[in-house]
Amino acid sequence: MRKALYSILALWLTACTSPLESPTVLRAFQQPATSQEVIEFVERAVVSSDNLYHTYIGHSEGGTPLVAVHASDTYEYPDNKLHVLIFAQQHGNEQSGKEALLLLIRDMANGMYNHWFENLELWIIPQLNPDGSDMNERRNAGGIDLNRDHIVQLAPETRALHNLFREFKPHVTIDIHEYFPFRESWAEFGGYKYFDVQVGIPTNPNVSEELREFALRKALPHIENHLNDKGFSFHNYIVGPAPNLGRTRHSTVDFDDGRQSFAIQNALSFIYEGINGQDGYIENLERRTIGQYEGIVALLDFLHNSAEETRNMVNTAQQNLKEAKPGEKVAIRMEHFPDGSTLMLPLTSSKTGLDTLVVVENFHPVVQTTLEISRPNAYLVPAGDHQLMEFLELHKLVIETTADLDGKVITRYFIESIETSIDEELPNRLPRVVTQTFDGNELTGEYVLVPTTQLHSNFLVSLFEPQSMLGLAQRPGFEYLLREGEEFGILRVE
Ligand SMILES: [Zn+2]
Repeated sequence: MRKALYSILALWLTACTSPLESPTVLRAFQQPATSQEVIEFVERAVVSSDNLYHTYIGHSEGGTPLVAVHASDTYEYPDNKLHVLIFAQQHGNEQSGKEALLLLIRDMANGMYNHWFENLELWIIPQLNPDGSDMNERRNAGGIDLNRDHIVQLAPETRALHNLFREFKPHVTIDIHEYFPFRESWAEFGGYKYFDVQVGIPTNPNVSEELREFALRKALPHIENHLNDKGFSFHNYIVGPAPNLGRTRHSTVDFDDGRQSFAIQNALSFIYEGINGQDGYIENLERRTIGQYEGIVALLDFLHNSAEETRNMVNTAQQNLKEAKPGEKVAIRMEHFPDGSTLMLPLTSSKTGLDTLVVVENFHPVVQTTLEISRPNAYLVPAGDHQLMEFLELHKLVIETTADLDGKVITRYFIESIETSIDEELPNRLPRVVTQTFDGNELTGEYVLVPTTQLHSNFLVSLFEPQSMLGLAQRPGFEYLLREGEEFGILRVE
């Protein structure tokens, strides 16, 4: 009994006196950190630092607490700093993002980045999908792909992330993933991408152009230079099959993911795609982790140095949404197009292992709008539709009463027919519509008024227009909104 007590005491003393180190480093990267170890590590880190606090933002589907670290020189949220939200491992089988954030938390606890706190305030979620991580599975314990769940938000993990976003109001978000370059079509082609880190910026044309340009022209080159200096390779995020078997483009335009769901609210949002291992798990985990770490440090350094400029730019872009003008154009259908450039894609030959440059002819780098619509003053949502009411509540959308609609022009859509359209390789339903306008004093039935002068302005137009390829009617559970030969339930106030 006494012996057992002594060994517990010895363990406790070791834990308290040994320098803070990630469990994965202590195992020489032979095994990634479990969800339990992540929590224990964070709890040790915050005890050893004056600049780190932690909280639990909710529970996963499987009941695991979701831990988040608040890194700041004050517990309050000062308004004069740039707020940055970093989250990793929405996909449980992408281990290196979590490992990189543990190293970042370690180095913050050790005081290495104290100078950042002059300008930056951070929230860090090292793993959003702990259950998936422990099983090395992409989806959460309920079988949901979290990074396709940012609109309907069926998963508690996604809801917890958006609650934190609403509370903390980050100017910048960084969503950490991994890509898997070793697919069969690439092996057959004879080579694969080997970039240590790809970084993507918002691609939806409704996101502030100034923010997209700033990310592309200023942030990405800084990240690339830093990674190259540290011996890692970088590329602007590209997706597609092996060269010339289909289009190569800059990922998706949808805002159902961790990057663009915040970008559509004009936060400056990034996605990191570190390289995965060929075993989809621990192969090269040390290099993968350090690569992600250096990529994140590069961006935080950049943000530290441009904090005021970034904060002002985001504040202005968000204020523009809150004061959005009716009649402005909003893109509701769009597609990646070629711009005449060819992509010289560096690949590693799967036969010789040597690096080679491949010309990609079928490169579609620019997004063009194929259908736009004028922004209404507001939308009228039928109060008797419980699913839509829950949706408004889920996103904490600003709503108003319908008291003074007299004299206002209301537009109603009638769905004549529906055909299938393929956009960005994905089928969606494209209705043929006719519109009818009438005076607000003729409105019958109970409605909730949702003004378009709010942070979710472009989000609302993109979701509530029946012809939008990214509309709510295209999403799981809301297909009923589009029915041939019927009225569309949501009305416009012009
Ligand atoms: Zn992912």
